Amino acid sequence: MSTPRIDINLSKIAHNTKVLSSLFRSKKVDVIAVTKGVCAHPQIANILVKNGIKILADSRISNIKKMRDAGVKAIFLLIRTPMISQSESVVLDTDMSLNSELSVIKKLSEFAILHDRVHKIILMVELGDLREGIMPSQLENTIEKVLRLKGVELTGIGTNLACFSGVTPTEKKMELLSSIATSIEKKFDIKLTMISGGNSANYNWFRTTKDVGRINNLRLGESIFLGYEPLTGKPIPKLHQDAFMLVAEVIELKNKSSVPDGEIGLDAFGNKPKFKDQGMIRRAILAMGVQDVMVTGLTPKLDIEILGAGGDHIVINAKKESLKVGSNVSFTLKYGALVTAMNSSYIFKNIISPLSAKEYCAIVEEKDRLHKKKTAIIPVQEDHTPLISLQDSDFNLIFEKSIQKNYRYLVRKEVFEKIGRISKLLDNQGKKLIIRSAWRSFEHQQKLWDQKTSFLKKKYPKKTVQEIDKIVSNFIASKGLSTHSTGGAVDALIYDLRKKCVLDFGTNDGLYIDLNEKCYPKHPDISEEAKKNRKLLIKLFEDEDFVCDHKEYWHFDFGNINWAVENNMEYANYGILEESFVQSAALNYPDKVFFYL
Ligand SMILES: *Cc1c(COP(=O)(O)O)cnc(C)c1O
Repeated sequence: MSTPRIDINLSKIAHNTKVLSSLFRSKKVDVIAVTKGVCAHPQIANILVKNGIKILADSRISNIKKMRDAGVKAIFLLIRTPMISQSESVVLDTDMSLNSELSVIKKLSEFAILHDRVHKIILMVELGDLREGIMPSQLENTIEKVLRLKGVELTGIGTNLACFSGVTPTEKKMELLSSIATSIEKKFDIKLTMISGGNSANYNWFRTTKDVGRINNLRLGESIFLGYEPLTGKPIPKLHQDAFMLVAEVIELKNKSSVPDGEIGLDAFGNKPKFKDQGMIRRAILAMGVQDVMVTGLTPKLDIEILGAGGDHIVINAKKESLKVGSNVSFTLKYGALVTAMNSSYIFKNIISPLSAKEYCAIVEEKDRLHKKKTAIIPVQEDHTPLISLQDSDFNLIFEKSIQKNYRYLVRKEVFEKIGRISKLLDNQGKKLIIRSAWRSFEHQQKLWDQKTSFLKKKYPKKTVQEIDKIVSNFIASKGLSTHSTGGAVDALIYDLRKKCVLDFGTNDGLYIDLNEKCYPKHPDISEEAKKNRKLLIKLFEDEDFVCDHKEYWHFDFGNINWAVENNMEYANYGILEESFVQSAALNYPDKVFFYL
């Protein structure tokens, strides 16, 4: 995919929006979402609206127009005090605006009358940050005049702190705004419907205050998009900090000195650069620079150090990270970096949108079709790794009862060791690995097929034999095609020792699994709990180099054709071990280890 790019994860933005909205709603404070930080990207705006935001705010009319033209359905608030020269456009293109100048409000009134509209205004009050706002002592004077104007409707008052001077929105400041609201209502016998207390920096005040007073609205940008509280730079609990990720590509990687060679003058930006002597280092150059993004607002995901940047380059110390020319390097962004990256025409905006269940299943099935084609032709170079019974281990395992008599839960030696390490990790979490199935003979596989077929026949008496076969084949391989006959496949679940039950994986009732599309590992329509549990199970196995089946979250392969195809190997190491071989090996080697000869 093209670089440099910004990966925009819409599900994470949706999550942050929902969490913050419900938090603020708990004390009857509404959230306006501020879109300036993402250049009013219409798909992002739509996600905000879809997740309950009614009012979208931006500092620029052009951004509001962009959202309107893209069909975003919201009330639009202009949050930068309007330019008097744009008054007509403010009235025509926005629904409401924050204001602090009477001369501008008069113009808004004129154009509103001309176009037969009513424009809503919120008067900003200066509470110490020294950016926009009417001095509290002048407020009544201004309101008296505003109330006489036609075409404009005074909807409320607001304030903005923590921007120009970093003044903290304290309890005292918010109480002051509340008392101003109340005294205005009394004096003019009006009702102010919106008392807008500030921006993302109001988070800590909100969390700690016992009484929000008259404040019933906040305007949030940074905290929704980046999950941070801006005054302290601390992550807000339960929010994603990586809904946006910037990705750049390595174009040079060499061992070079950490200090330059020669007399030092001014750099490309007229500054005298300073260097820390770290001896020889691995220096990588990324194809991205200050012309693309505010580099000082980037935080690398890897353990690397940004040494400096020019218009088109970022130079990093790659330290011990395994980078090479062509590698992608990812960064999370601070607000300044987000704004510049979203505004840069050089950076590709890569929207990652949540898939619907239908889309996801279609992708899985297509992948599976392709995968099956490849597994049909991939060669096997049998490496004769022996089979061992997991029952002969001292690992903490639970064995699910099998329909096969005297079932031994055989796996290849390497798989055996991997299962040992996985079970240890679970021991430390108060959990236990359940082994449902391991090596299976053809006869065993056929039994499973027949059992499922007769179960489904009873459940759906109207379905034809072909229809039943199709459902069964989705989840049970016909004999000879199952990777369970290689000794490299394991079916596993997890038991919670504290709760004394099998974890919830979304389609199971204890050990019983209902076979349907929701068994596809990343199906979107399962509960958050089930998603978390599947993640845990799959990560345990993937960290041991297994691959998870496309359609069954409990099935893992190593060394066999499924594994080889997923890893783009030239051949698989584990071929099919037929019953007769395993039987005769068992006779020849009664000491628990079964060899395939
Ligand atoms: C930018 C801005 C906001 C949003 O600030 P965040 O820190 O991104 O939440 C709110 N109000 C006004 C007036 C702004 O200019």
